[in-house]
Amino acid sequence: MTTRTGKAAVLGGGIGGLTAANALLRHGWHVDVFERSASLPETGTALGLWPEALDALGTAGLGGAAETRGVLQTAGTMRRWDGTVIARLEGIRRPAVLLSRPALLGLLADGVPSGTIRFGRPAPPPGELTGYDVVIAADGIGSPTRDLLFGARYRPVYTGSTAWRGWVGGATDDMSESWGPGALFGITPRDGDLTNWFAAVRAPAGSTGGLGDLRDRFRHWHPAVRDVLERVEPGTVLHHDLYESPRLPSYVHGTVALIGDAAHAMAPNLGRGACEAMVDGATLATLLTEHPVPDALRRYDRERRRRTQRLVTASHLMSRITTARRATGLRNAFLSAALRFA
Ligand SMILES: Cc1cc2nc3c(=O)[nH]c(=O)nc-3n(C[C@H](O)[C@H](O)[C@H](O)COP(=O)(O)OP(=O)(O)OC[C@H]3O[C@@H](n4cnc5c(N)ncnc54)[C@H](O)[C@@H]3O)c2cc1C
Repeated sequence: MTTRTGKAAVLGGGIGGLTAANALLRHGWHVDVFERSASLPETGTALGLWPEALDALGTAGLGGAAETRGVLQTAGTMRRWDGTVIARLEGIRRPAVLLSRPALLGLLADGVPSGTIRFGRPAPPPGELTGYDVVIAADGIGSPTRDLLFGARYRPVYTGSTAWRGWVGGATDDMSESWGPGALFGITPRDGDLTNWFAAVRAPAGSTGGLGDLRDRFRHWHPAVRDVLERVEPGTVLHHDLYESPRLPSYVHGTVALIGDAAHAMAPNLGRGACEAMVDGATLATLLTEHPVPDALRRYDRERRRRTQRLVTASHLMSRITTARRATGLRNAFLSAALRFA
């Protein structure tokens, strides 16, 4: 099959945009990435990269890089808020890799020639971009491109939960998520001999705040949670209300394709948002090298929309289950039994 090449503008130099850029460059495309931030982030928490995301990195020419830099997730424990075990997952066949966002973005940015990413450049509206065969809108959950092409009614909506994330010094082997009424707390290893943590709580949007609120919310939880929270340095805490996308009628508009959170932001409970952004970028790039642009975009929408919209729904359900306020005993017993017989 002939490899097709062309010129692509990528709006947003995040995880999805840089995966697409690497994969296209590898096949001889000319790529310009417009990124509004002045530089790559220097701090950030760990992302769980599932096998499909590792395969997408392979398509982008960076196979093996995440495994070398990150930490393999081969087991995990689900606990109740008091520390007792609900279930253990062991011997995961193709483990996920835990890698911090700055490390992932660093390896993606290192894969493209210098000058490809135009830092400090808010993306021009697609209509002002001339001379490109395709525009890839990878401008994240607040995507101005999505707003422009599909209107404000497709803006992400509040999931009902708010999240804190951060890291503390010192390595850990702990890989656990603890569930209590209306809240969860996770602890994982990450690259750089650090311990990654995250918390989610059901709460009205904008109703919670800083480290004080967080420590207070988890003050009765098991010692590993309290120990991590005591070691948190105030300036390192990230706090976000969590949003998810309504279903877009298409991920394509003319010669513009939406990828990643711009198309399908989801609750983080299945750890799939960044992974799916990478798969979008790699899939789109492969299709663009194999088919004429209109055909490639049609195929991209067909391959990716239904699956990712289902994941938005599944992530929402997982978020409701893990932070349930009622019937938690029944939930825990069911999960424990289901995993024992899986
Ligand atoms: C608490 C939490 C935990 C998470 N954990 C995981 C996990 O473990 N695993 C996982 O797979 N996912 C996880 N996610 C989801 C993941 O972070 C996102 O899905 C992922 O970052 C989406 O990638 P993206 O490339 O679409 O967007 P982003 O990574 O957000 O990149 C968008 C880029 O576009 C740029 N941009 C925005 N507007 C403009 C503009 N106008 N002009 C130019 N540039 C612009 C931004 O600066 C940014 O660099 C988590 C999310 C949260 C909130």
